[in-house]
Amino acid sequence: MAIKYSNKINKIRTFALSLIFIGIAIMYIGIFFRTSMLVMSFFMIVGFLAVLSSALVYGWIGMLSTKAVQVTCPSCNKVTKMLGRVDACMYCKEPLTLDPELEGKEFDEKYNRKKGFMQKS
Ligand SMILES: [Zn+2]
Repeated sequence: MAIKYSNKINKIRTFALSLIFIGIAIMYIGIFFRTSMLVMSFFMIVGFLAVLSSALVYGWIGMLSTKAVQVTCPSCNKVTKMLGRVDACMYCKEPLTLDPELEGKEFDEKYNRKKGFMQKS
């Protein structure tokens, strides 16, 4: 069980994007049930709700982005946004921390796990 460490904003964005596709897929399934108005409208509503919630998630990312801290990644020298005390670089997935206290602790452990995962594959 290796946990891939990725940037939080990117992760939420991927989730919102997949919600749109899931919503469209559900609505598309509804077309196959044209004969039953009830089943078709059920799929349409569920699909629409999925797309709608993705819009809400996108709005949420916008709010989080204003709170995110802009830092220059020491590994790839690109400006990335991080949420919370520990987050990964958006571009090279390098784990970053704002809290010097965390630098030797939890932060390192995750990094080691990632390294072990990379060696195996
Ligand atoms: Zn980077």
